[in-house]
Formats: sequence, structure tokens, C-alpha cells
Amino acid sequence: MEIINRRKRMMSVARRLRREENRNIGFVPTMGALHDGHLSLIHEARALCDVVVVSLFVNPAQFGPKEDFKAYPRDLPRDAALLAEYNVDYVFAPAVEEMYPLGFSTYVTVEGLTDKLEGAARPGHFRGVTTVVAILLNIVRPDFVFFGQKDAQQAIVIKQLVRDLAFTCEVVVAPIVREESGLAMSSRNSYLTDDEKRAAQVLNRALLKAGTAYDEGEHNAARLVEIVRAAIENEPLAQIEYVSINDVETLESLDKVDERPALLSLAAFIGNTRLIDNIVLGKTKKNFVSASA
Ligand code: AMP
Repeated sequence: MEIINRRKRMMSVARRLRREENRNIGFVPTMGALHDGHLSLIHEARALCDVVVVSLFVNPAQFGPKEDFKAYPRDLPRDAALLAEYNVDYVFAPAVEEMYPLGFSTYVTVEGLTDKLEGAARPGHFRGVTTVVAILLNIVRPDFVFFGQKDAQQAIVIKQLVRDLAFTCEVVVAPIVREESGLAMSSRNSYLTDDEKRAAQVLNRALLKAGTAYDEGEHNAARLVEIVRAAIENEPLAQIEYVSINDVETLESLDKVDERPALLSLAAFIGNTRLIDNIVLGKTKKNFVSASA
């Protein structure tokens, strides 16, 4: 496994793999502080691709001024050891100045899809995400790029970016990996105290409660949202930011969940830590299923 810090080196390695060795490249962008959620994406990439490239980059452009860019967990030696264990071929771990050199002034924005949910709660977040992903896709030029359903809106936004700007890669979305308690794995879970970690379990429990109600015939979106809210409001350490039901592809807000699958998503603070989670109601579509399934 080679750890690469420079754009130029990453580009020339990727070019050689594609052109001279004719090998296809799977790419997994991450912000590091790896957990089993990230590792599941790497597992998918390993199963599907000849060469696996993982990036570790805490992207300042996607954090708001009051967010946790500085505090975000970073542990390159631990991440590198895990990636070597997973037979990753290349780790791209650039410094901030390597990705955003002096004079950098081009940003990529996906309109519409980024106005709601996470985009509304975190202004500028998706502009940072789509900009860094566009740069990374240009550097690596992968055949497949892997994202997690944990960040459902992000995956939808990236698919739009790839379509609109004619990137040649295929976007693969892998299911959410959870702890045994149901808590969705996240690098930010490391901020939680033991009490908060217990409290955070309410998020998935609340979503599942609405999932059960849906399965039992409750298809009214407002009532399903209310089930989630009521469950979370019972937990004193939790503070809801939003709970929403949207079309899984267009993110159009829904009053009723009918034939088409719907995304039931939420953001909430547990103490000072902001967490997100979601489930899909209704028949899940193929692109929400793991690539190796
Ligand atoms: P991050 O390092 O948080 O930017 O995440 C990198 C990628 O891993 C993103 O595509 C996330 O959606 C994905 N990811 C993060 N947590 C999970 C999880 N619990 N299950 C599946 N994928 C995840």
C-alpha cells in the first residue's frame, strides 16, 4: 500500500493503472477516523474493482464557521494500518494546501437538491462537498466511486454532480452500518459520553418505530414524522433539528408515502454532537442495495 500526499503523484499513478495496466479503479472518499461504515465501502470496492484508492481528507470547505473542523478526529497512523489490513492499494491523504492551493477560487454547486434537509441546516456544506468530490474525481478518475447511505442526501447530490458534469464513474451507494445498539456508525460518535451514546440509540429506535407504523399501513407523512419526533422528545439529552420524509431520488417533500420509496431522515443533537440517520420506507430500489448483494 502506498500513501500519496500529492495530487500530481496520485494523478500519474491513476493514469498508469488505467492506461498501461488496464485496471479498473474503485475510489472511496472519506474524512478518515475510519470505522466499520467506511470499511464496508472499502469491502465493496475491493469486491468490485482491481485497484482500490481511499482518500483521507478532512475537507475544511464543507464545515460551517461554527462547526467542528478543528476538533474533527484525525488519526492517520491508525487509519493507514486499517487500510493496509483491508488490502487497499493507495491512500490519498493530501494536506489542505495541496487540495486548495493559494489562489484557489472555483467552487461547484449542485442546485435544488442542496436547498433542503442537510443543505438547509448547514448552509454551504454541500458546496464544499461537491467541490472536493469534483477535484478528487478529476485526480483519481475512478471507474466506481463509493458512498454510504448514512449520508443519503450526499449520495443523491453526488449522483446529480456526476450526471451533470459528465464524470465517467459509476456511483455505488452502500447500506448504513450500525452498532449492535442500532446507532449508525459515525466518526462523530467518538464525541459522545457513555450516557450520550446510550441516549443516541433513540434516533434509530424512533425511525424503526415509524418504519413499523408504515408497514402496518400508516402512510401519512405528517403522522409518521410525528411518531419519530415523539419518540425522540422522550429522550432528555436529544434535541431534534429536523425530521422529514422525501422522495428518495428527487428529495421532493412528501405528504403521503405511496408506491415510490421514501427517505425518512433526521438530524438531532445529542448533547453538543450533531448526528444524522435515516431509513427508506417502502420497496427499496436496486441502487440502495449493496453492490455485492
Ligand atoms: P465521512 O468520512 O464521514 O465523510 O464518510 C465517508 C463515507 O463513508 C461517506 O460516503 C459516508 O456516507 C460513508 N459512511 C459513514 N458512516 C457510514 C455508516 N455508518 N455506514 C455506511 N457508510 C457510512
